[in-house]
Parts: sequence; C-alpha cells; structure tokens
Amino acid sequence: MRPLTRSAALSRRLFLRGTGGGLLVGSLGLHGTVYAQGAAGGGAGAERPPARPVGRVEPERETEMPVEPGRRLGYAVVGLGKFALNQILPAFGESRHARLVALVSGNRDKARAVASRYGVDAGAIYDYDGFDRIADNPAVDIVYIILPNGLHAEFATRAFKARKHVLCEKPMALTSEECEAMIRAGREADRKLMIAYRAQYEPHNVEAIRRIRAGEIGPLRLVTSDHGRILDPKDPADQWRMVRALAGGGSLYDIGIYSLNAARYLTGEEPVEVFGQIHSPPGDPRFSEVEDRCAFQLRFPSGAIANLSSSYSTASVKRIQAFGEKASLVLDPATEYEGNQLMRVSERGREQVKVKDENQFAAEMDHFAESVRHNREPRTPGEEGLRDVRLMEAIYRSAREGRPVSVEATGSVRP
Ligand code: NAD
Repeated sequence: MRPLTRSAALSRRLFLRGTGGGLLVGSLGLHGTVYAQGAAGGGAGAERPPARPVGRVEPERETEMPVEPGRRLGYAVVGLGKFALNQILPAFGESRHARLVALVSGNRDKARAVASRYGVDAGAIYDYDGFDRIADNPAVDIVYIILPNGLHAEFATRAFKARKHVLCEKPMALTSEECEAMIRAGREADRKLMIAYRAQYEPHNVEAIRRIRAGEIGPLRLVTSDHGRILDPKDPADQWRMVRALAGGGSLYDIGIYSLNAARYLTGEEPVEVFGQIHSPPGDPRFSEVEDRCAFQLRFPSGAIANLSSSYSTASVKRIQAFGEKASLVLDPATEYEGNQLMRVSERGREQVKVKDENQFAAEMDHFAESVRHNREPRTPGEEGLRDVRLMEAIYRSAREGRPVSVEATGSVRP
C-alpha cells in the first residue's frame, strides 16, 4: 500500500475514528513527516522510504491507546493472594482505563516488594486495620476486594464509608443479607458496586451471548455447565475454602457459581425453580464444613432448563454448553484465565469460532473504570451478585429438603 500523504492520512483517520481534529494534528506533529515529504524524486506510485532516519505518520492501530495515566481511574487492591498476584496485578499492564495506585495487605514486606515492582508509592500501602485511612488518598477511586469471601462485606462497607467505588470478587458475600447490606451501603455513599464476574467480560463467553441473542442457534432449550477441580488442603489458598465462616460454602459457592451465572447470562432469564443434590464423602476432613460436589438444575420461564454441576473432587473441568433448536455452542474450556475455546455444533458439523482473545481481567477493570467515569451502571452490579447468592441459598435448601424449591423470578429478560 502507498504511504499516505499527511492530508490523506488526516482525513482517513477523521473518517475512521471520528476523533477531534486538534488531537490528530497534535499526534501527527509528534510523529513527524511522511515519506512523501522526506523522499526525493519518488516517481508516481513508487515512493520509497529514504535511506536515512525519518519519522512518519502513525501506523494503523489494531488497539486503542490507553488514556493518559493521570486520567485513568486509580485502583487499590485489597488482599495480595494467589489470584491478585498472578492474575489481577499483571492485568493492569493491559488495562486502558485503570491503574494500580494502592495496596492493602496484612504482610508489609510482601506489600513493599509488590509495590516497588508495580510502581506503587510506599505511602499508599495500607494494612487491614489502617485500611480506613484510604479515605484520605484522592488517587484511589476504586477499591478491588480480593479477600476470602467472608471478608467481602466488611471491606466493601468500609470502602464505601471511605467514599470509594467497589469492585468485589465473586461470590459477593456469605449470605443474601450481607449482599443486601453491601448494596445499601453503596447507595447511601452514592458509590458504585460491581461484582467481578470475569466470564461476562471474557471474549468467548461474550461472543456466545451475542450469538444466542442474535438467534443464531435458534431458541435456547438447554444449558449444561460443569466446573470441577481438586481441593488441595496443602495450598494456603484452599485452606480458607474449607472453613465455612470464610468460604460460605464449598464447590458450589466457589466454582459452581460460574455454572450458575452462565445459565443466567446465556438464557438471559431468571430461574423460577431450582433443584439441588449435594454429596460430601464422610470422613474426608476437607469437607467437614463445606460441601464437595453439587448437581443442580434450574427451570426458566421460557421452558429452558439448565443442568449444572460443581465439584471439589474431580479433575479440572470448566465447560459450558448451550443447546438451541438449530445448533449448539460449546465453550470448552469456558472459564480458564486464557485459552478458552468456542465451538458451534450443528448438522453441518463442528466449527471452531475464531474469537480475538483479550485479557478478561483488564476488560473487566476497564469496564468498571468507564462505568464510574461516565456514571453508568456496570454490567454486573451488586444486584447480579445478590441474585446468585439467593439462588445458591435456594439450591442448598433444596438439597437439604430433597425437593425442588420455587424462587421468585424477576421475569426480566436481559438485552
Ligand atoms: P488467597 O488465599 O490466595 O488470597 C487471599 C488473600 O487474603 C491472601 O493474601 C490472604 O493473606 C488474605 N487474607 C486476609 N485475611 C485472611 C484470612 N482470615 N484468611 C485467609 N486469608 C486472608 O485466595 P484467592 O484464591 O486469591 O481468593 C481470593 C478471592 O478471590 C476469593 O473471593 C475468591 O473467590 C476470588 N477468586 C476469584 C477468581 C476469579 O477467577 N474471579 C479466582 C480465584 C479467586
């Protein structure tokens, strides 16, 4: 392709992006001249880069540039455990609207070491007791809670008191009452609350939702989803997961929530009835307080049925399938941190759907930063977390009572 002249490049970009002319002229100034101006004697259609260093206009960009650091929303991450350190902190590097500005940890040495690597000011390290001082740090807009589930409600409430917005890991809290209190605290503080349902920001899941809403697989009849792994008592990140007061429940609460949430975002409906069965092997110390495996069904107003499971004693599985009248969509794996796959299966055969992969954690943090900046409701607000916690409470009740349990359907079908 011929290098563009300055005016052609300018008008093309204005056309492509609809961006303000001042910004573009500024950016062209930064990038200097185009070949056409630097190259002497190029014949028509044969302009060549000169054999000396020259600047030229920006290349076509495949991704948007991040906004300037000073305009990105500042996050404080609370809890520097396995998930925070391995997934969330690195994802700030791929974020366009968020930046890491503060850390909250019970281990000062660890926090200092992490802060120095991520360029966080040593004065912006807090411990759990001193967390409330975050109110005095204007660089912090959003508090991201990545603590054991039993601590989510307390820290969300304290963050709202400090007049910060809150992004909170799933499951939202131990009980629906705690979830309701978190939502109330956010409203009273006039601050936003989002639950970190990363799968709803993950490109393959987003594409599956889009195809279902577009009617591509016909009316959705059935959803199946399974999430399982081995709970390892030697792993510190699994030790609190065996304690009811910190975890809230077992495999259903921790990973079955992905199956449950998927059934809701794929159907776009709220269930009217749930049925659950639970088994924990007697004598296994891992399951003295929380359940091992759970099989559960949801019935939706349209007649769609979801058949779902979670387990702490099976090899890793993270699969979601949506069966429509014309075709089915298979996400396997569906909820890995990266490398998810989407397949369309019909009478025509199996077709791998190409989806541009993108860091789901960065997408999620950017979505919330943008929601805060533009005062918009996030896609997964506190109410979304509350619905799942209410449904999990109903699933536990159903398993205890050995019968299906009706749940109040909001009837709302999502866009
Ligand atoms: P983890 O044990 O690795 O991290 C927990 C952190 O909380 C640690 O830094 C620990 O020191 C701190 N902590 C403070 N008080 C504690 C206490 N009383 N007991 C134990 N730890 C305490 O756990 P994790 O796997 O990082 O999970 C943290 C949260 O993130 C949970 O809510 C979990 O559900 C969620 N999570 C989400 C995903 C996801 O994909 N969205 C993945 C993993 C974990």
